[in-house]
Amino acid sequence: MRSSSVLAGLLLLAPLGVRAQSPTDTMRFTHADSLRGSDGPARAWWDVTFYNLHVRVSPADSTISGWNEIAYRVTEPGDEMQIDLQEPMQVDSIRQDGYLLTWQRDGNAFFVRLPAPQLAGATSSVMVYFHGRPKVALRPPWDGGYIWQRDSLGNAWVATANEGLGASVWWPNKDYMADEPDSQRVAVTVPTPMVDVSNGRLRSTSVNDDGTSTFTWFVTSPINNYSISVNAGTYAHWRELFEGELGTLTMDFWPLAFHEKAARSQWEQARDMLTCFEHWFGPYPWYQDGYKLVEAPHLGMEHQSAVAYGNGYQNGYRGTDLSGTGQGLSWDFIIVHESAHEWWGNSITMKDAADMWIHESFANYAENLYIECRTGSKEAGAEYVIGTRARIRNDRPIVGAYGVNDEGSGDMYYKGGNMLHTIRQLVDDDDAWRGILRGLNETFWHQTVTSAQVEDYIASQSGLDLSAVFDEYLRTTLVPTLEYHIEGGKLSFRWTDVVPGFAMPVRVMLQPGAPSWIRPTERWQEVDVGVSAEDFLVDPNFYVRWQQVEATGG
Ligand SMILES: [Zn+2]
Repeated sequence: MRSSSVLAGLLLLAPLGVRAQSPTDTMRFTHADSLRGSDGPARAWWDVTFYNLHVRVSPADSTISGWNEIAYRVTEPGDEMQIDLQEPMQVDSIRQDGYLLTWQRDGNAFFVRLPAPQLAGATSSVMVYFHGRPKVALRPPWDGGYIWQRDSLGNAWVATANEGLGASVWWPNKDYMADEPDSQRVAVTVPTPMVDVSNGRLRSTSVNDDGTSTFTWFVTSPINNYSISVNAGTYAHWRELFEGELGTLTMDFWPLAFHEKAARSQWEQARDMLTCFEHWFGPYPWYQDGYKLVEAPHLGMEHQSAVAYGNGYQNGYRGTDLSGTGQGLSWDFIIVHESAHEWWGNSITMKDAADMWIHESFANYAENLYIECRTGSKEAGAEYVIGTRARIRNDRPIVGAYGVNDEGSGDMYYKGGNMLHTIRQLVDDDDAWRGILRGLNETFWHQTVTSAQVEDYIASQSGLDLSAVFDEYLRTTLVPTLEYHIEGGKLSFRWTDVVPGFAMPVRVMLQPGAPSWIRPTERWQEVDVGVSAEDFLVDPNFYVRWQQVEATGG
């Protein structure tokens, strides 16, 4: 239990009597959204096995050009293939076995006719040649596209960030979350002496005759396509080693050259991050591809095995504390949050953007576990996650619409993190809870998953019926509210603002200094109580509201 001063603060953050609005259909989805977000007929029959991406990046005129060889396995016969590349990018040609293929463009999707028989079980590939001036990101990383920058010494500095918007904003691929390649090459050509840092490991560097250099990176693991990134500039580089759960992990650091001193100091936190997250979540997922931090001209992004960093070598979130408690000021938010996505988002990836809480709720939740791990204080971590409740909007449900690349509410961060913190209370056994977090990573290692898979796993491993709990927090904007009334030594209580069948237990103060569990439902119940109405407390670790009522209404 926490002090009443925290409670008073919580009451201010979550005013009673403010009813959550019921979800309304404010979203309208287009034909293009369906093409993008669903497993349509020109997608369902083939499974991407490898992307062989080559791209030439020209800062002088903000254009790119290149080709991507898309290797695939046929899962059922098909003759039309959907390849995504967004306006204003252009496809020059598409070939298979040396033959030019014909296609029809439908906005951001190309429907390619394959004359050769596509037999189930066969493997093949298509080559897609492309060029154009890709969309420029105006507010990276919140919108997406290319970032054409200069560092403060005037050197060209180029990066990509395209989560949500999609990788097809700059390179042709199957822009569908549920289908990841098993591995990928990323060969980036930039003007000499720029250095490109992309995902995985650098396999080769070549200096070309035309004043450019090509950096060929290779990712040996499945990778979500929005992680594929260009980071090209004037970088310093050093390597460290981390002895972790799966052996020796390489840590490669790529700050802008003139930031090396600041980076060598600030980025030491990456080592604490790995220690804490391996403890809570299990092995770092990409020992083969390594861990990297790369300075980028935007705040940051969880690019797999090449985490983009732009937090200005300061602690907190751009120097501020998102929790308002002070607990967020002693560590670098971008190192911790974006790296947490290596487990939650990159290793375990949503099949559909509607389930993005799998990425953001766990990455948000990881922040408080990092604090707990670093300070040794469970209370410090709890104070942080509870403090972030001020940022919950309850504007619309966390889970979005399926099949249309819809992300749902930004509440997937703070509300989702608080849902997980609440479930930790329900599990009420920190070793078991840690086992569930590690078990999720072991069970869904390098996979794409649905929300249902994650929910079912937590429920089955905890032995708790959590279906109404997940529905309440993920699929409505309601906040469970405990109505109570104390009279004659009896506490009357029930849940309101809940989905049918919601019966989440909650810890309350029935006797002075002695927290105990009650099991409210939507029906009034009664229990003996030894505290007055003024001293009655609900454990603030639960993301719920509580409200004294005058009478129980029979
Ligand atoms: Zn995130």
